[in-house]
Parts: sequence; structure tokens; C-alpha cells
Amino acid sequence: MSEVPRAYAPGKIEKKWYDFWLKQGYFAPKIDHNKRPFVIIMPPPNVTGELHLGHALTATLEDIMVRWHRMRGEPTLWLPGTDHAGIATQVVVEQQLAKQGQTKEEIGREKFVKITWEWANKSRENIMRQHQLLGASCDWTREKFTLDEGPSKAVRTAFVRLYRKGLIYRGERMINWCPRCQTALSDLEVVHRDVMGHLYHIRYLLTQSEGFVTVATTRPETFLGDTAVAVNPQDKRYKKLIGEIVTLPIINKGIPIIADDAVDASFGTGALKITPAHDSTDFEIAQKHNLPLVNIMNPDATMNENAGPYQGWERFACRDRVLADLEDKKLLEKIEPYSHSVGHCCRCQTMVEPRVSLQWFVQTKPLTQAAIKVVKDGRIKIIPERFTKIYFDWMENIRDWCISRQLWWGHRIPVWYCQDCGKLTVSVDEPSVCTHCRTKAIIQDPDVLDTWFSSALWTHSTLGWPEDTSDLRYFYPGSVMGTGYDILFFWVARMIMMGLENTGEIPFHTVYLNGLIRDETGEKMSKLRGNVINPAEAINKYGVDALRFALTTGTSPGNDINLGTDKLESSRNFVNKLWNATRFILQSLNNEKLEYQAISILPGQPQRIEDQWIDSQLNRLIKDVAELMQGFQFGEAEQQIYDFVWSKFCDWYIEIAKIRLRRQLTPSPLPFLVNTLEKSLRLLHPFMPFITEELWQSLKMRLLRTDTAWGLNDTMKMPASIMIAPYPLSDKRPFALEAEQVMDSVIEIIRSIRNARAQYKVKPGRWIEARLYASELLSGLINEADMIETLAKVRPLAILSRQKREPTKDKALVLVLKEAEVVLPLAGMVDQLAEEQRLLKEGEEIKGRISQLESRLRDNDFLSKAPSQVIEREKQKLAMLEDKLKRLYNELAQLDSLSAGS
Ligand SMILES: [Zn+2]
Ligand SMILES: [Zn+2]
Repeated sequence: MSEVPRAYAPGKIEKKWYDFWLKQGYFAPKIDHNKRPFVIIMPPPNVTGELHLGHALTATLEDIMVRWHRMRGEPTLWLPGTDHAGIATQVVVEQQLAKQGQTKEEIGREKFVKITWEWANKSRENIMRQHQLLGASCDWTREKFTLDEGPSKAVRTAFVRLYRKGLIYRGERMINWCPRCQTALSDLEVVHRDVMGHLYHIRYLLTQSEGFVTVATTRPETFLGDTAVAVNPQDKRYKKLIGEIVTLPIINKGIPIIADDAVDASFGTGALKITPAHDSTDFEIAQKHNLPLVNIMNPDATMNENAGPYQGWERFACRDRVLADLEDKKLLEKIEPYSHSVGHCCRCQTMVEPRVSLQWFVQTKPLTQAAIKVVKDGRIKIIPERFTKIYFDWMENIRDWCISRQLWWGHRIPVWYCQDCGKLTVSVDEPSVCTHCRTKAIIQDPDVLDTWFSSALWTHSTLGWPEDTSDLRYFYPGSVMGTGYDILFFWVARMIMMGLENTGEIPFHTVYLNGLIRDETGEKMSKLRGNVINPAEAINKYGVDALRFALTTGTSPGNDINLGTDKLESSRNFVNKLWNATRFILQSLNNEKLEYQAISILPGQPQRIEDQWIDSQLNRLIKDVAELMQGFQFGEAEQQIYDFVWSKFCDWYIEIAKIRLRRQLTPSPLPFLVNTLEKSLRLLHPFMPFITEELWQSLKMRLLRTDTAWGLNDTMKMPASIMIAPYPLSDKRPFALEAEQVMDSVIEIIRSIRNARAQYKVKPGRWIEARLYASELLSGLINEADMIETLAKVRPLAILSRQKREPTKDKALVLVLKEAEVVLPLAGMVDQLAEEQRLLKEGEEIKGRISQLESRLRDNDFLSKAPSQVIEREKQKLAMLEDKLKRLYNELAQLDSLSAGS
């Protein structure tokens, strides 16, 4: 006998089934050349630490896709992995060292890297465990780390190939520099914040004549690196000064006044100081005019020898001294308060210094053409589509990508400098001699590569590229790349460029962008606000299935998700509902003395109207879910299954079925109870893997083991787990439209009577009399009056034809419904005046809804944008309401005549 415990205890069940799936090897796909695989390469979380809700969301969505495809019989690979996260990890380890009073320089590069490896390995295991906790069905036998040997070789190979094609070069360019981390940063690693600062107006005296030019700057200390003053050629104030020389104060150096269209005459004084080594706009102007670069800072943002008397001063201390000295010389004209955006290092929050520096770059422009084309051609689809435009914009305005980092943690740049001939050896494998002069005196570039360089290769480096492996041949290109929309450019765009460049093929067919998670009021979650939900705590409290369900139900791609405890609680309630429904059905199977009889999940042709209804509704649900899943509308699919299971199956069908079960009437509803539950569990499995497996296993013991419904035609054997059972397919039978309409009306009737009883405070146990004047549609109901009687607690119940309606002679409550009028004689209980007012009020409400619908149907904007089914549905709704209003007024007229007669 199968028994399900009274209450659901998630923790135990989750561990049990995850271990079972792992042991059975269900997560590892078998290569089958007759089938097209479904492949997701997991976006590798940073090894920097704990999984947050964003990871949980991405992992849940990917697991939904993966489980769904696996149930459809496709060889399915979800390859997990982690990212070494260069600067992020290095900063964390540095901070740990600092706590012990040490610096990385003190312990040296080798030891530092060793410590970081130990830390990363621990963290990697932790991340794996957290994914397993979430139920992620990834193939752990293929797990990868960006610093593993395979992906590392891929990184070196890609570097060498790009270098040989001339697409990687070393040059002096303006980059973002973090003086604390002492490394270059990409634009993506810089956070811009508005800072309240000052605009300083400084006078530069003309060298050969009387007079001066005033420049305005937020960083006065940079004047030491100025190499020109630029003005707009149209600016009348400065026209005659173009070509003159001004003297930089304190260091007494002459620099020219030049003309450039890029200067905005309306900003500041209209005269722009040009500091090419410390500002990217100035750098571009300087390039045009062949101006020299004067770097005035050391890597730690102290002033260098070019700063003259200020050498050795820290940048902000230097600023104070410069201002004091300018003041002394009466060259500081004025100081205005000024708010401006300033870049900060995303890892240590230090103010970034724009700086010209010798770095390695990828020339990205030549890589973009192909990457733009594959999205234009539709070979790669971005969901939601609105991000496609942003992708094109970004690709078209792309700048060269600075890939070198002055860090210790990461992929070392595969370049060796010769100390004898000065030439470069660029090689995948470590060279022992210079390839140009064969000397052994070569030194490897000390820098590492931007962490996103290895991430960009992730789609193929994980499958064995550059080696020609069977995995690469079978599983590449992948199917879907799922990630948050915030890293579309940093990562997705680069994966497309590098995938095409390295393999000649797109890396995936679809980019699925999920939203970001916010709290229930729509605020961003942050530690500062204290509104962060920790996934591990949520799992402890509500169970994994509830968390997964709360994260994804009702959401749509690219839209942010609001999550609070309400949503978690209602998801847990749903899990409990499912649990209780299954318990009830299993108990009913036992009560029916069917212990030795197996139930087929093919229930046969339904006879009774409620069986036809649930059967048809289930078939309709399966069809809708299939369409939604195909369209990546997972949140909506989930919502529909939820509505079906809760509001149709549990609230109505099971309640109606209980009547027959109690009286042991035939035909028994059990085949339909079992069928609906079993299919609902399979429909829900990708979303809620644990509870569905647990309940399905209990149900399985009662099922026919060789059912054709398993769709496994060769063996016809029941699968050992729901996760490898086929996902339900809708059958070709037409929907039972009439049964659906009848049951909709029955539900409306019961609900209205229940509401009326509640409104008039009729005791729950008390039977009341009812007359039902039914439309043609409900004529068959006479045989099935049981449902209404029992569930609405009405007896005697007379079901009469609406055509033969006689005027109400007694005092009664009249409910005007879609397909019927229900008359509840409540002798002495109902105040007639109140009843009249209630009908009048309801009439007003209906009128309001009618006028809303009418204006909607007159609205050209709506008519041109809405799908035709929606317009049709609105029209039907209008006709239905108009009919209802007419009948309601009839009832009012009858009440009037009744009171006139009495
Ligand atoms: Zn930093
Ligand atoms: Zn050499």
C-alpha cells in the first residue's frame, strides 16, 4: 500500500532524490547521432563566493529548459562551471592577507597564486553544492573552471591566433586605471557615481604679450601634464589668440593655443586645457594635433618627476598644494561648486585615474561584422527581441578592448620578450628560446588577461576546443545562452564574436535574457537596504521547489522580478496543495479496494460531464503549455499549470469526484483523478523537480507498468523516474466545448449560491431550497443535479427550463447568471427592499463594465494593436453582459410586481 506522510518535509526528500538522479547518471547525456541535442553551457558564477538570488534565478530557468528538453527525449547537456574572476578574486584574497597584516608583495607571486588557488577550490566546491541544492540537473562529470588546463589552452590558442592575424596588438592607449589595485580596468569594471566637486578657474598668462586665458577644470593638479589649450575655431573671444603660447604656472612651461571643433564653446570658459595622458577626450584631440603626452603620475597615483616640485605627492594632497600655490600667484580666478560623474573601481571603490598606458588590446571592429550579421540574419535570436537593437548599437560603437591586467590571478599573457634581440615570441606552449635569435634570455609578460577574455571562449573551450573532440562535434553550437540582461555586452556579445572567430560557427541559437530580482516593492535588493533574501535561508524555510516556483512563476523574459515573502509563502502553499491532493487520491485508491489493480494513465472516453470537462481542460492546458514553452514563456506556462491544478483540479474536480467516491457510484472518477494528477506532476516537474518526483514515485506503484502512454514504444516500460518520463503531449481529440461551458456555468451557479449563503449568514450545515431556471445548454444537468446539491448545500433543487419560467410568487433571492437564474426562496429572511437595492447595485456595476468595454472597442489604438482573438473575446464579453443586464431588469420588474401584488 502506498502511503504519503501527512506533512511535506522538503529537506529530506530533496537530498534523497538528488542523490538518486546523480547515481542513475540521468544528468549526463548520451551522444546519439540520430537526435539533435539540447545544450546549455552554464554562465560560470565567479568563485568569489556565495550564490545569490540572481544565480538561483538563472539556474532555475536553465534547469526548467533542460528538464523539459530531457523529458522530450532529446540528448540534453547542461555543462556547469565557474569563473576565476580575476580582479574580484584577487581583491578578496588581498583583503584576507591584509587582515593578517600581510601584502601580496611580501609573500610573492608564486605563494599568492597558490593561496588563491586553495581559496578558489573551496569556493568552487561550495558553488557546486549550492547548485545541487537548487536541483540543478547539470552534468557534473563535465564541470569546468576557466583556469583548468583545457580552457587555459583555449585562451592561449585564441590569443596567439588573433595576434597572428593582427587583431591583438600592444600599444599606448588611454585606459581606466585603479591606483589601489594598480591595474588597468575595462569600461565594464568602472562604476560611475555623481560626485559633488568643484570647477576651478585657472589663469594661464600669455607668453609674448599681456593678457591671459582662463581654463576651467575639476582636476587642477593635472595642469602639470597639459600640452595645449584648445578653443573652438568659431569662438570670437579667442580667434586672435590661436597660435599664441601660454605659460603654465609654477613649472613655467610654454604650451600652444590650438583650434579644434570638438571644443564646446559654451562649457566653462570655452578654453579647454589639454592633458592627453590623463583624459580620453584630450587624448583624442592630442592625437589629431600631434601633441606630446606628458604622464605626471606613478601607478599608485603619486606624482612623478614630470610634476616638478610636486614629485612624490599623492594626487589629492598635490591638488591642495597646487591650489594654494596658484592662489599665492593670484592665478586662481574662482572656484564653483560642480557635480560631475566620476569613475570608481568596481572592486575596491577607489577613484579611477584615466591614464595612458602600455597595454594589450583586441581590435574588435573586424570581429563585429560577422557578429552583427548572425543576429540580423536571425541565426541567433535574442529574447526578448527589444534587446536586439541595443546589441546592434553597442556593436556599432565598439572600441578596442583592453585585455591586459596588472594582476597575478588569471591567465598569463602568452608573450615572451627577448632580452637580446628585443623581439616578441608569442606561443601557445611555453618556449625555451627566442624564436627570432634562439637565445634563452626571454621573459614572459608579467600581466594576465582580462577575466572576460576566457569567459568569451566559454561556449567552446568547455567542450574541448581547440582540440577536435567528440563533445565539440556533437554539442557545439549550443542551444540557449541564458543570463541576466545586464551582461549582454560584456559577455554575450563577446561570446558571439569569439565563437564565430574561433570555430566559424555561432556559439548558440538563442540568447535568453532574464530580468533582475527586486524586493516586493520593486526596490533593488542590497545589503544596505536590508531587503536581501538569501537563497539558502529561503530554501531552509520554504523548500527548494517553493523558491524555484516563486522566482519564476508569472515572469517573462527581460522583465525584472519582484520577490517577497508573500510570494514564497503562496508557493509553499501550492506545494502543500499538491501534496494533499495526492494523499487524497492515494487514499481513495486504497479505499476502493484496488490494491492489486493497476490503474492505466489512459482513462478512456469520459462519460460524465465533469470527467469530460477535466479531461478536455487538461488536454487544453498541455497544448497551451507546449506553445508557451516553445516561446520561452516559462513563467506564463507555470502560471497556467498552477491555475489549472489549484482552481480547477483541486478546488472543483476533486470536490465533485468525492460525491461519487463517497457513494461508490459508477463510473468511478478514479481513472480521471489519477490521470489528471499524474500528468500535472509531469507538467510541473521542470519547475518543481523534488515534490513532483516524490509524489510521482508514490503514485507510480499504483500505475500500470506497461502503459502505451509512456510513449517508449520499444520497451513500453514505465520510467524509473519522473525526470526521464516523457513530457505530456496533447492528443488530437477535439476539446469538449459543451462540457467546458456547462461546467463553467455549474461552477458559477455553485459559487453564487455559496456567496448568497454567506451574505445572508445561512449556517454552513443548513440545506436551503433552490430553483434553477436553466438555458438550453444546461438541459442535461437534470441528471447531474448531485454536484450542485452537494456543493451548494441546496435541497430540494428543482432544475427547470428557462423558457417555462413562471413569475416568482414567493419572496426570494434571485441570482442572474450566465446560463441560468437561480431562485432561492428565503421566506422571511430577505428584506425585499434590500434585495431590490442589491439588484439595482449589481445592475449599475454591469452597466459600468459595459461602458468600459464599449469604449475599449471604439478605441482605434486598441483595435489596431490587439490580436483578433482578444478583440473577439471582448465582443463576446460585451454581448454576455448585455444579456445579463436585460435579465436582471426582468427580475427587478418581477420584484416590483410582487410587492405591488402583496
Ligand atoms: Zn581597485
Ligand atoms: Zn631574440
